[in-house]
Amino acid sequence: MEETPPGQRPQPPPAHASPPFASAPFTPPPRVFSPGLAAARGTPSPGSGPGHALPHLSTPPGPPVFSSPLRPAAVPFRATPASPHPVSFAASGGYSSSSSATAATTASLPTSSAPHFLNGAATLHGDHAPAPSSIQGDGLDSPYVQFSANKVLKQKKLLNAPSLGFGALVSPGKEVSPGPEVVERDPRRCLNCGAYVNLYCDVQIGSGQWQCVICKKLNGSEGEFVVSSKQDLLQWPELASTTVDYVQVGNRRPGFVPVSDTRVSGPIFILIDECLDEAHLQHLQGSLHAFVDSLPPTAKIGIITYGRTVSVYDFSEGAAVSADVLPGNKSPTHESLKALIYGTGVYLSPIHASLPVAHTIFSSLRPYQLSVPEVLRDRCVGAAVEVALGIIQGPSVELSRGIIKRSGGNCRILVCAGGPSTFGPGSVPHSAKHPNYAYLEKTAMKWMESLGHEAQRHSTVVDIFCAGQCPVRVPVLQPLAKCSGGVLLAHDDFGEAFGVNLQRASTRAAGSHGLFEIRCSDNMYVTQVIGPGEEASPDSHETFKHGSSFCIQMHSVEETQSFSVSMETKADIKSDFVFFQFAVHYSNIYQTEITRVITMRLQTDDGLSAYLASVQEDVAAVIIGKRTVLRARTASDAIDMRLSIDERVKDIALKFGSQAPKSKLYRFPKELASLPECLFHLKRGPLLGSIIGHEDERSVLRNLFLNASFDLSLRMLAPRCIMHREGGTFEELPAYDLVMQSNAAVVLDHGTDIFIWLGAELAAQEGQSAAALAACRTLAEELSEKRFPAPRILSFKQGSSQARYFVSRLIPAHKDPTYEQESRFPQLRTLTPEQRARLKSSFIQFDDYSFCEWMRSLKLVPPEPS
Ligand SMILES: [Zn+2]
Repeated sequence: MEETPPGQRPQPPPAHASPPFASAPFTPPPRVFSPGLAAARGTPSPGSGPGHALPHLSTPPGPPVFSSPLRPAAVPFRATPASPHPVSFAASGGYSSSSSATAATTASLPTSSAPHFLNGAATLHGDHAPAPSSIQGDGLDSPYVQFSANKVLKQKKLLNAPSLGFGALVSPGKEVSPGPEVVERDPRRCLNCGAYVNLYCDVQIGSGQWQCVICKKLNGSEGEFVVSSKQDLLQWPELASTTVDYVQVGNRRPGFVPVSDTRVSGPIFILIDECLDEAHLQHLQGSLHAFVDSLPPTAKIGIITYGRTVSVYDFSEGAAVSADVLPGNKSPTHESLKALIYGTGVYLSPIHASLPVAHTIFSSLRPYQLSVPEVLRDRCVGAAVEVALGIIQGPSVELSRGIIKRSGGNCRILVCAGGPSTFGPGSVPHSAKHPNYAYLEKTAMKWMESLGHEAQRHSTVVDIFCAGQCPVRVPVLQPLAKCSGGVLLAHDDFGEAFGVNLQRASTRAAGSHGLFEIRCSDNMYVTQVIGPGEEASPDSHETFKHGSSFCIQMHSVEETQSFSVSMETKADIKSDFVFFQFAVHYSNIYQTEITRVITMRLQTDDGLSAYLASVQEDVAAVIIGKRTVLRARTASDAIDMRLSIDERVKDIALKFGSQAPKSKLYRFPKELASLPECLFHLKRGPLLGSIIGHEDERSVLRNLFLNASFDLSLRMLAPRCIMHREGGTFEELPAYDLVMQSNAAVVLDHGTDIFIWLGAELAAQEGQSAAALAACRTLAEELSEKRFPAPRILSFKQGSSQARYFVSRLIPAHKDPTYEQESRFPQLRTLTPEQRARLKSSFIQFDDYSFCEWMRSLKLVPPEPS
């Protein structure tokens, strides 16, 4: 159906003129083609397990429960639930002492005394080179950047070995407290390559000239940096800290108030599917009531419902519910939008004025009346979003042709969808069996993509919250969310997790118009970037004579996102340090233009074991995971990618490990002991494995994972397993099936899902099981209280049909020999012989490999647990 022959396609100009860097492809998370989201979402029917229902078991979900005010930081290990001295997660710095197996989650920074930033002039800008030991920790604890290794290997061949690779995870929009130093002037940049002046630049204090760390050229400072001693240079924040925010004062709005309460500045449009059945509608109403109650009084909201038509609710009528109706079969005309905008209706109103009306509107919603099956109902999602955008833009809509006029604040459109877009622009036929479905789907995707871009140009993020059993046709809706900088989430129902996510979506800080630049010194270059953006066109940013930056247009700038940056070197590295500069230019939630510049350097080394010892296994695993999952577009790709993990692990052992004595087996490098287990989880888990019932659901997870922050990505990759013990303490254990001890309760955190499993013996004791369940529930909420999207939290007991969700995510270690079990899962030694016998007899035999069996099947010696 493509009309343009490939040869005549207009060729986009190369992004960067300098040839060595032209090969770096930016790879945004692609769309996935697959049928509906329905069927195998597979929530088993409630109460299907043997025995009696327990209190608080979470199916079917009740109305949403919001935990406000916010709780303090998560407390994973406590003496008792009511302990007066909870051990704070963050403050303790290392909680591994409480646990026998936290290796996988504990970062192993080489020096605990590494400075946050270098502020000692003696080691900086100095004529004498600093001692290597004092700078080992250069910026390694940046909240914005995590490298896969804290050293760079000098040998090109091994550094570039694709099985392990070198890279960084960058969250340029992350909010930290205290934030970086703020500088109220334009940044000083290298005239040759565009890099920003930074703390590692050598400044000649007599002339004020500074040497660029990226291209080594000298730049002038118009005398600004002429000082009497090197120490005096530290008065410039950009010469003292790894991270600086340049705020452009000229563009600063008068209302600039950096207080978190005022962050909901732009309007929020809530778009509601009119085609819901009664049960779904009731859940949604509960979620919506709670949602508007959670908004600050100054937040402006608008409400639209859509089906065959678009109804825009008017707040001007006070208590009476009234709406203006537009056709849904076509885009709104200029005249109809004008009539709305210049009419007497009030479609966006602050909560303090409109809260009672909003509640009345939600209560007045009625379930779908006709006897048409869910999949056949008409839903004009596209037209509804267009109307919302038109109103958000307001009178500026006429001016905005050609030039972009900013609407006040960053806006959000929250779509509550129970089904696919099946009517009007951007729609697909009701049935995927339609003879022309593939073509119509492609057309709809393109249309949604351009609507998403249009929203993005107007600082409006579109989040799509799907729920229910109707297939929502993820491939069609995903581009709208993605291109606007929003997310598409799928929920089982419109209940608790849905409601929490509405709330978190509306409060997450998002900047807009972000441009992300990456620069590296010493022949390092970017080979791939995965994340929420696309490679920027050359005219979208300043270009420099010898510019070698890699530039990405960001869809939105959010703290819950990150970019995975893979890098290689063109030649063996000679220098002692490699410099990396990450700069993001964006407009924040207060419409202030900010340029955040993060400069880091890593020491180089030609010793392989020093390099391996500096590898951050969790970061390396996440980058490998993203590169792998990116290629798992379809179900069959996913199977190929599972096999590619085997090859990768083998190759890492061959290149970086050693041959075991008197054996053909290879030893996996001991410095990377936790990496293969993490990759084994990836291979078996929901992102690639077969434990998720429906391919569409996997595609939602896949898109989330590719854009997610380091923390969430790691949790989605490898689950975290925490056992509740008698007396109310928690212990972190490897995510092996050996945790399924019938006298215990276990919390399994897999990022987008948290499962609470209750052993049968414990479940039989009413009082104790209720207490354990409550403690686990609290832990689950604490673990995920800042997470977006909020996970689904499910609890069930041993032997119930839902328990298979839990079992399938654990590594089956029950078949391993006792000595191996005890070495990898030392908690077993605390069990009595009876308990061990009972545990052993509780497993059903199946063919899945244990981790050790898998390693041996690859002709590798499993690494000793670290
Ligand atoms: Zn330069």
